[in-house]
Amino acid sequence: MQWLTKSWLVGRFRGTEIRFHFSMSFSLVFAYLIVRPEDLRGVLASLLGLGGIVICVLVHELGHTLAAQLLGIEVKSIVLWPLGGFTNLSRKPERPFHNLLVSGSGPLANIVILVVSSAVYLGLFFAVPGAALNQAPLLMRLLSTLAILNLVLVVFNLLPVYPLDGGQMMRSGLQMIVGKPNADLITMIVSIPVLLCLVAFALLTGDYILLAICILIALAVGTLSRRTLQWLNLGVNYLFRRAGYHYLQGDFDRVIRHLTQQIEREPAKVQPYLGRAIAYLHILKKEMARADLERALQLDPNNAIALGLLGNIYGMDKNYDAALQLGERDLQLRPNSSIPFFNRGGVYLELGEFRTALESFDKAIGLMPPLPPIVFLLRSMAHFRLGDLDSAHRDQEQALRLSPKDALIMFDVNLPVFEGYLDWAEDYYGRVISGKTHLPWAHQGRADGYRINGEYERAISDYTSGIELSPREAGLYLGRGKAYQALGERTRAADDFRKAKEVTGKSHQKRQAEECLRELG
Ligand SMILES: [Zn+2]
Repeated sequence: MQWLTKSWLVGRFRGTEIRFHFSMSFSLVFAYLIVRPEDLRGVLASLLGLGGIVICVLVHELGHTLAAQLLGIEVKSIVLWPLGGFTNLSRKPERPFHNLLVSGSGPLANIVILVVSSAVYLGLFFAVPGAALNQAPLLMRLLSTLAILNLVLVVFNLLPVYPLDGGQMMRSGLQMIVGKPNADLITMIVSIPVLLCLVAFALLTGDYILLAICILIALAVGTLSRRTLQWLNLGVNYLFRRAGYHYLQGDFDRVIRHLTQQIEREPAKVQPYLGRAIAYLHILKKEMARADLERALQLDPNNAIALGLLGNIYGMDKNYDAALQLGERDLQLRPNSSIPFFNRGGVYLELGEFRTALESFDKAIGLMPPLPPIVFLLRSMAHFRLGDLDSAHRDQEQALRLSPKDALIMFDVNLPVFEGYLDWAEDYYGRVISGKTHLPWAHQGRADGYRINGEYERAISDYTSGIELSPREAGLYLGRGKAYQALGERTRAADDFRKAKEVTGKSHQKRQAEECLRELG
């Protein structure tokens, strides 16, 4: 898909590259087919119109760029293509309000042109005598076209469809009110029907440009922006696999609720038990997970996933013999899957048998390349202990390439991997924090590492840096609260737990915060 992102550099604005997407070269053909000018005058008028569209779209993207730059976000490039433009930010604004400002400033730039051109048009219309006006028909047409063009751009971009500006603004606004998971859900519930209505409208009126835009919103935008791809994935999951959707959102209580309903409907199906067990593990309800896995194994004694997960639980209980035994059975059932090797590597890492651990991780990674970042992090730990720093760093980078967020913040269930690996964590997160690309999750990850290893003061300092960067991330307040609690600073701990409860939209985090508060007394 590399060719899809091909573009040419045409200029710069305050250090930001302005590029033309290769499909811009088709726009002359499109314009010809749409307008079909009859003479040279018509050709010139169409070219002028096309140039006008490009300039108005560019002004729109410059609006986004300027707002982002004023908020301290570097803008890598603006890419223009026949149906609009993209502003590629180096990072997403942390606060929903900043995102709202960046999204809104594109349409705002068009509103400015709209207001100015209409005002000049009306001013001329009323102030200048008709006869004199007739002398300048081109100027009047230019002004009215400019106004209409920008009106269309404003209306279209403000439609509440993600990832259009209107959809982004709606999502950011909702995030400030109802939290991220609910905001995502509402945005999707609004976006999909509006997009479908647009498609229906385009089909009914035979407006193929609009139809093309709709399809491109769903497809081409996805190839150019990773976030939109993730978004589409989320949408598909929402429509067809509700539990999968909540899982991707990290809202484990909803996953459990949804799968429980499914189990009530079809109690003899294995899959929902496995899914619920994974969700229970995420919120650290080990015994509930164990019960679900045992039920799954009663239904299907050779279920490899159930065996693997049960092996994980034995590993957490430090019952390494049982874990390895289950792992062997799992391996016989799926000799070509990387998961049994990954699990075995994890056990040997815990046992301090780094060479065997490394062999298992190599095998896991060789068998199935698309693995979660944690596999590379664990192998990095084994390399680190064996003194091979280069290989350890290569694995860290691979994990970060796969998914920076998942590579930096461990799920609660994986936090124990930090135990005894503080030197590794300092090396890993230190490299990320001092590196060029500043990733705010690194502070949370290192803070978790410090906390698990009893270094509470340093944990608090990292959590605080994280909070400065993303003030609405509940995990940071929960972590800092626990660190304060460990130091006996009860008032500060309670403040943090209350704040976590306030900012989160996920019920398991709310419950966790309440449990922490109760524990404080
Ligand atoms: Zn825009």
